[in-house]
Amino acid sequence: MKDFHGKSVVVTGASSGIGEALARHFAELGANVVLGARSAEKLEAVAAEIRAKGGHAVGCAVDVVCEEECKALIDTAVREFGGVDVLICNAGLSMRALFDEVDLKVLHRLMDVNFWGTVNCCKYALPYLQRAHGSIVGISSVAGLHGLPGRTGYSASKYAMTGFLETLRIENLKKGLHVMVACPGFTASNVRFAALTADGSQQGETPRDEAKMMTPEEVARIVVRGIRRRKRLCLMEIEGRATHFVKKFAPAFLDRMFYWVMAKEPDSPLK
Ligand code: NDP
Repeated sequence: MKDFHGKSVVVTGASSGIGEALARHFAELGANVVLGARSAEKLEAVAAEIRAKGGHAVGCAVDVVCEEECKALIDTAVREFGGVDVLICNAGLSMRALFDEVDLKVLHRLMDVNFWGTVNCCKYALPYLQRAHGSIVGISSVAGLHGLPGRTGYSASKYAMTGFLETLRIENLKKGLHVMVACPGFTASNVRFAALTADGSQQGETPRDEAKMMTPEEVARIVVRGIRRRKRLCLMEIEGRATHFVKKFAPAFLDRMFYWVMAKEPDSPLK
């Protein structure tokens, strides 16, 4: 898909960060965008801004954990824009705690949002995507390429997404469906503020310098380029490319690098 003009694009987690930037970018390219997330007001504000600039966008309040709400999200795209050409499974949640200390409800929650949220949306969008020979994109992470210490549930949920999407790609090999796993590195957004700590409460602050990260707009441009090229895996910058490469030849070295990088964070749970 080279030209997104008039295409129907569904983006989950579009009320903030990468999802919001993707929704705005697709709208600039002439796509009809359905924005999904839980915060209806934020969604409507973004959708209204897009419409004010002459774009086409509707917001749809959805908790991706709820299968019925995901069905309603896809139904909205079909009703408003005639189908689904691109589905971006971006809604996501992170964590920061050692497995020794974490309440297992945190891991369940991450699997529910990151993995099951993706599965729920794909289930209802798939017939339309097959008809359109469209694209499914899962926004994974570098933590979905190699285990990130302090983020057992996050890495596991992103690996699970990858396994699911890879299988979906193979099942649909003869049906013209494009499936891409995108792996941003650290990107300035709300994700670290909203991340869950050991007891399930929100972290409320970021342990990293957000100013030194990629911007959501940069990630959005790279994802769109990946869809145009119908890539399987979309790596973004040095962290992702190096992780993907080094893992093949020196995984034990990568373990030590990941430990070292995460241990340097202020208040790192790695003692
Ligand atoms: P943000 O926290 O800024 O955005 C997360 C989005 O997900 C929000 O729109 C939030 O909206 C939505 N969301 C969270 N839970 C749910 C839910 N249950 N149902 C529906 N929507 C939900 O973070 P990012 O933009 O950074 O994250 C987007 C994706 O990118 C995530 O999957 C994340 O794992 C991934 N990523 C981020 C990186 C980073 O460094 N920022 C790096 C690598 C990957 P609301 O609260 O309104 O529901």
